[in-house]
Amino acid sequence: MEKQNNKVPLIGFTPQELCSTMQEYGGTSFQAESLMRWIYRKREKDISTFSDIPKAILQSVEQSYTVGLYPPKESKRSDDGSVKYLFANGQNQVFEAVAMSSGNRHTLCLSTQSGCRMGCRFCRTGSIRFNGNLSAGDIINQVLSIPDSKRLNRIVLMGMGEPLDNLKVVNKTLEILTADWGCALGKSNITISTVGLLSELEAFLKSPGCNLAISLHSPFPDERAMLMPVERTNPILEIIKLLKHYPLKKPLRLTFEYVALGSLNLSKNHARAIATLLSGLSCHLNIIPWNRHNAATFQSPTSDELTNFMELLNDAGIPTNLRKSMGGDIDAACGQMAGNAPH
Ligand code: SAH
Ligand code: SF4
Repeated sequence: MEKQNNKVPLIGFTPQELCSTMQEYGGTSFQAESLMRWIYRKREKDISTFSDIPKAILQSVEQSYTVGLYPPKESKRSDDGSVKYLFANGQNQVFEAVAMSSGNRHTLCLSTQSGCRMGCRFCRTGSIRFNGNLSAGDIINQVLSIPDSKRLNRIVLMGMGEPLDNLKVVNKTLEILTADWGCALGKSNITISTVGLLSELEAFLKSPGCNLAISLHSPFPDERAMLMPVERTNPILEIIKLLKHYPLKKPLRLTFEYVALGSLNLSKNHARAIATLLSGLSCHLNIIPWNRHNAATFQSPTSDELTNFMELLNDAGIPTNLRKSMGGDIDAACGQMAGNAPH
């Protein structure tokens, strides 16, 4: 995050990072926690109102620091009620977040990078120029700066970017989202979605900070490599080995995501091979019908194709859900995010 009016933004900080400054101002580490709680949990923006911290300390803090929230530049509401927010930070990075509600589940889909380096063939984000990692402040700002921030109870890191390509920042973000001094969300209310970069995946699985979704898209290595070039250096067979070696413990859940491409990856052979690949893993499969965009020429699946495929998978004992697509009319559905690149 860049300085605002020459002051350092506090969003993205952990209390530990603020501890020595607080002590310089005559405060304590406990007060550093308290300060962060006002920002992340109570979502207050005016430092002078943080009432359990002495005024003199707050005045010192205010001389060098600001809360540092910045609003989305634009928002678009879909007919289905989901809202896409476009952000631009001081480093010329643009990125998007999408808020979706269903019953009492209020979810925000966050970006972790501006663009993405993975180049998956079916994904709009993969076709635009990569413009770097986001900071923890930029990611948390997506959560705190939208109008409905206070009612969010689920976060998915499934927007622009590959979370494991920015793992250090993503881990810090997870700490802020789940800490008592942070947003205080449960780990099982947060999910990261990844293509499965092997060494980062192993690091994540050793101390998982949330639910995990792996982008599968084909059980056949050659076909997966055609769709997702990262398969060549991060083979799905190695990913499965790691997942078996470090199983997620309840209540955390493992999901596989499968973009349904018409006439391509929905055959009986695909269903059988998926069942073999996933046997022995406690998981379920989320089918995402391909969302159309102009940067690729795949076909969306027909409803017959989807029904048949899901039946085959259920018969093979793989619990399967169809992910209802939201925000398609405003280019906010999975794989349609492109910042402000032309559509
Ligand atoms: N980079 C991460 C998370 C962001 S994409 C990942 O790839 O896992 C979130 C999900 O949307 C992934 O499963 C991705 O494969 C899928 N996706 C990408 N483009 C899509 C499209 N056009 N239609 C449907 N799903 C898509
Ligand atoms: Fe990146 Fe995910 Fe899109 Fe692949 S699907 S290009 S990893 S955002």
